[in-house]
Amino acid sequence: MNMILDFHTHRQDAAAALIAVDPQEFDPSASLYYAVGYHPWHDVGSLTSEDFALLERCARHPQVLAVGETGMDALRGGSLDVQADVFVSHLQVAREVGKPVVVHCVRTAQQIIAARRRALLDDVPLAIHGMRSNEHVARMLLDAGCYLSYGSRFNPRAVQVTPLERLLIETDEDSASIDEVATRVASALDLPADQIKQAAAGNAQRLLNG
Ligand SMILES: [Zn+2]
Repeated sequence: MNMILDFHTHRQDAAAALIAVDPQEFDPSASLYYAVGYHPWHDVGSLTSEDFALLERCARHPQVLAVGETGMDALRGGSLDVQADVFVSHLQVAREVGKPVVVHCVRTAQQIIAARRRALLDDVPLAIHGMRSNEHVARMLLDAGCYLSYGSRFNPRAVQVTPLERLLIETDEDSASIDEVATRVASALDLPADQIKQAAAGNAQRLLNG
C-alpha cells in the first residue's frame, strides 16, 4: 500500500487518499485507494440484500482499504432507526472482510457507539470523518477507541484533546488542499504541519493495515 495522507475525499482522482465511492459506482483506477459504502444521505431504507452483497464484493477488492462512508445523521437522511440498521450492516461487512469503517456522524456519536455495541461489533475499528464536534463528544468517541479525522473546519478544543496517534486529516468535499488542512490542524496544536502529516499518514497506515 502506498501512503494515505488524505483519509477521506470524494475527488475520484485523488492520489495518497482514501476515495469514498458508492458500490454501484465502484470502478477502480490503478494505484488509487477506496472506501466503499452507502452514504446515509442516500435512500438507505431502500437498500436490498443484493445491494449489501455488492457492498461486500467491492469491500473485498484489494484497492478497497475500508468500508464507508456510512453512519448516521440527525439532520438529514431519514429515520435514525433505519440509518442505524444500515450502519450495522456496514459493520458486519467490515468484520467479514477485516477492514475498518469510515463513519459519517452528525449529532449521533452516542447512537453510533451504542449501535456498534448492541451488534457486538466493538472490535470493528471506526474512523469518524469530518469531525466538527466539541471536545466532550471527541472524548466520548476516543474512549470508544475511534480515530478522529479532521478537515478544514473543526473545533480546536476537540483537536487539542485528540492524541496525535488517533488523528487523521481529510479534504472531503472541501476546496482546501490536504496541505492546507494539515496547516490548520497544526496551528490548533502549535506544532509544525509536517509533524501532523507524518502522524496522520502513520495512523492511516496502521489503521488500514489492521
Ligand atoms: Zn464525505
